[in-house]
Amino acid sequence: MLPADIEARHADWERMSPVDLLTWASERFGDGLVCLSALGAEDCVLVDVIGRHRLPIRIQTIDTAVLFRETYALWSRLEKKYGISIEGLRSDLIPDSGPTAPEIDRLWEREPDQCCRARKVVPLRKALSVRQAWITGIRRQQSETRKHAQVVEWDQAFGLVKLNPLAAWTVEEMWDYIKVHDVPYNPLHDQGYPSIGCEPCTSPIGTGEDIRSGRWRGRDKTECGLHVAPVTLVK
Ligand code: SF4
Repeated sequence: MLPADIEARHADWERMSPVDLLTWASERFGDGLVCLSALGAEDCVLVDVIGRHRLPIRIQTIDTAVLFRETYALWSRLEKKYGISIEGLRSDLIPDSGPTAPEIDRLWEREPDQCCRARKVVPLRKALSVRQAWITGIRRQQSETRKHAQVVEWDQAFGLVKLNPLAAWTVEEMWDYIKVHDVPYNPLHDQGYPSIGCEPCTSPIGTGEDIRSGRWRGRDKTECGLHVAPVTLVK
């Protein structure tokens, strides 16, 4: 599927519900499709849609090895509730056992951009290199950098189709869905963490703060690099 094909159906994508979009995508891309879950609230909605409707879609998550223990617990809860497997993607510099490679050990303190690149972007790029399309939980409301996200767009940086089934959802719609469908979610969301990333780089937010202000607090950094690369926007 090329950018021009996507553009031709833009109005269709906007009207499709997440389950209809994911059903279509699983038929269109087959094993070439992957859902990349960050285990945030939006991602839990997508896991529910996939699990509830038994869609044959592979689910992966990036395991930076420094996620909150609540996030690791949520990972297990989702797998158990839906009877699915969520595959972890790790940097080659983070072995399953033994110490992390010295060049990235506590790298967030020195070079957070390089840390995100090593722990997140490199494993993701490797995983996406064998796929034709990926699914994310991006919503336009989440941040300035995401406000132009399309439901289906061409991801120029990674060279494949990107599906954002919740792009148009409001935060209220998302939480309504979670409550109505009893979807497991990270308990940190109820403790002042609307956006949850790695433990060393995530803090709770105060009243009136932007929902992503707890990420990399005190630094200019606002994204980990997975979703900021230029994409071909389809109007
Ligand atoms: S969020 Fe922090 S700890 Fe996680 S990869 Fe990025 S810089 Fe490293």
